[in-house]
Amino acid sequence: MKARLPLLVFLAALTFGPAILPEFYVTLLNYIGLYAIVALGLVLLTGVGGLTSFGQAAFVGLGAYATSFLTTAHAVSPWLGLLAGLGVTAVVSLFLGFITLRLSGHYLPLGTIAWGISLYFLFGNVEFLGGHTGITGVPILEVFGWKLDTGREFYYLIWLVLLGAVAATQNLLDSREGRAIRALKGGSLMAESMGVDTARTKIVIFLIAALYASISGWLYAHLQRFVNPTPFGLQIGIEYLFMAVVGGAAHVWGALVGAGLITILKQWLQDWLPKIFGQSGNFEVIFFGLMLVIVLQRAREGIWPWVVRLMPAQARDQAVAAAEPLPRRDMAQPGSLLLEVKDACKEFGGLVANNNMNLTVQAGEVMALIGPNGAGKSTMFNCISGVDPVTSGEVRFLGERIDGLASREIARRGMSRTFQHVRLLPTMNVLENVAIGAHLRGDKGVMSAALRLERAEEARLLAESARQLERVGLAGHMFDEAGSLPLGQQRILEIARALCSDPCLLLLDEPAAGLRYMEKQALAELLRKLRAEGMGILLVEHDMDFVMGLADRVVVMEFGEKISEGLPEEVQNDPVVLEAYLGGVE
Ligand code: ADP
Ligand code: MG
Repeated sequence: MKARLPLLVFLAALTFGPAILPEFYVTLLNYIGLYAIVALGLVLLTGVGGLTSFGQAAFVGLGAYATSFLTTAHAVSPWLGLLAGLGVTAVVSLFLGFITLRLSGHYLPLGTIAWGISLYFLFGNVEFLGGHTGITGVPILEVFGWKLDTGREFYYLIWLVLLGAVAATQNLLDSREGRAIRALKGGSLMAESMGVDTARTKIVIFLIAALYASISGWLYAHLQRFVNPTPFGLQIGIEYLFMAVVGGAAHVWGALVGAGLITILKQWLQDWLPKIFGQSGNFEVIFFGLMLVIVLQRAREGIWPWVVRLMPAQARDQAVAAAEPLPRRDMAQPGSLLLEVKDACKEFGGLVANNNMNLTVQAGEVMALIGPNGAGKSTMFNCISGVDPVTSGEVRFLGERIDGLASREIARRGMSRTFQHVRLLPTMNVLENVAIGAHLRGDKGVMSAALRLERAEEARLLAESARQLERVGLAGHMFDEAGSLPLGQQRILEIARALCSDPCLLLLDEPAAGLRYMEKQALAELLRKLRAEGMGILLVEHDMDFVMGLADRVVVMEFGEKISEGLPEEVQNDPVVLEAYLGGVE
């Protein structure tokens, strides 16, 4: 209850504020609300998803112009105007998304600038949209017969929409799809390996951000009752981004803080700076530029994390609700062939990292792949799991050719892996990190997440995640930040994550590195249990005692090639292997 107090006070202030505030402040609050809806989309897209857009103002324009044109030229209802605006925005944003989201690095922001400018000029130059004069006489909005013809009344609609969008976004982020979204920034490769379609996820958040902007535009048009191109240009697009960044780009409430702060500050600066400098001009632009630099230098997370520190501490969830276990896949018969690599080659430029590699893994065995550093073992893993496909040769999994498939498609077929250099989301807790592994075992989408209709499935996914954590001995760390674990335990986390996908073949790249003796014993015990259940395990490991005590068969690599293969004791006594490992010393 205490933790909710700030929220309740805030909501009470929002509800009763307009009744006592002067008109000027109500107007200011209306604009803050409108801006915050757009900034919220940017929190999702840029702050959480890592995709920078300078072009959101153009989507606001689409929403505003669609309803303005239809309601004035064709006298349709503003609600139809809303639907039309959302429809047009969806089509345009999907089209632009498909083109620009493929761009990486700096090209994406540049792309958004390009279409931001194009749409702006489109608004200004199309005759039926009124050119630079725009469209006037946009009708008053009516909600169930209630005419919203004053700012004070409109206020409630704007803020209801904003709070609804905040709640929906927060719900979305706290879900299966939300974990996929949160993995985009810095964890795409891992997420793909866990079955997440990252290209689709990017398009989805791009679409959501555009739709939020479009709704804001619709509200704007009916509040202002006229539109012209000015508020939909690039400069405003930059301001939206600025709001999200200053407020706290990765936090939904940051959008509100940012929109509030920038709007009030801008108002204030526009009043005072010309007086200080003794001449008129847009001095606030310079000030904002400096402020952005300072925020990026000093407070990359924006202002929201500071606000949080002033509030009473939130109680952390300390338990995972029991839920019906997820269905499991049928295990292959022990001894049956799971994986077959045939003449696999992998070249990086001139470097041959894998040369004519052949190996097999059966159900219910531990196959160890060993060899000196740089021998090509991790490369082999990447070839098998589709992370970095073979240059030539074949990989078959469960009888089907999988070389050439995307890693998420291979994951779907029952192969899961860990990474030599751990790949987790350090600020996400351990439980949620592991739940990413269960991505393919759920199917509830963005809408159900936003509306909390997927709670039963979510509970099952989290319960599975907790069960796997218990199995690997990390149950005590479920609610810790993953990045706070020692490296050895981060590797174990990756095993739990891989197990969460219910694989029949498990690829472990140096799982015991960084573990203490007792932890290694526990890991070996776990792998024996998995083997007894019929799982196939392909293991890369440097600790020879660990490998030799566990492996059923061993393949030895050197310089990208297989130099020996056999039972552990055979391989250990193979002169070629001794030569490779000890440089010829007997
Ligand atoms: P291991 O896991 O056996 O230590 P790796 O498979 O990581 O070996 O590396 C094998 C060789 O391939 C090394 O020489 C390494 O530098 C090279 N290599 C690995 N990945 C890449 C890459 N993405 N680009 C270029 N060279 C690479
Ligand atoms: Mg390696």
